Amino acid sequence: MPGRRPFDTVLKPVIGQFFSAGADSLKASIKVTQIEKGGKYDVKASISGGTLDAAVEGQYDSATGCHAEISALEKCQPASNVTLRVSPPPCKRCAFVLDFYRRKHGWTIEGPIKAFGATSGGSYFVPDFVLDDVILDELVVKGIISQDEANTNRDKIKSYFMTATW
Ligand SMILES: [Zn+2]
Repeated sequence: MPGRRPFDTVLKPVIGQFFSAGADSLKASIKVTQIEKGGKYDVKASISGGTLDAAVEGQYDSATGCHAEISALEKCQPASNVTLRVSPPPCKRCAFVLDFYRRKHGWTIEGPIKAFGATSGGSYFVPDFVLDDVILDELVVKGIISQDEANTNRDKIKSYFMTATW
């Protein structure tokens, strides 16, 4: 058994690469649609279709740092084959999360442009199910890190993800 690898020097770079690849994959798959723009902080995301009976909407919350996409996701996961629509396009962090739902649950992401939305310096809210089921689970399933490394570095990985400095 290999020992636990150090976080900063060994794990961080490979984890960062994995985050970037997921975000890029989502960016490339954004279905460009004409979407009405809200104000700078008036960002809403809606999820509809697929297995949902009724559309759900999420809104950016500056107090918690919960982005509109995550707020909408919290209300409907794990819906399948839905369409999530948001303007501006998802930031890198939301893009990584949404790519998981795109691949695993057949989600379509609609945005105004194939690009990342700005990553502001503000806080970013990561719900526990996103951290455990999307971020850590994927790192382990894809063989990037071991389960032991995921357990040991849970908080560090969460912080690193939130900063989007990858
Ligand atoms: Zn975001």
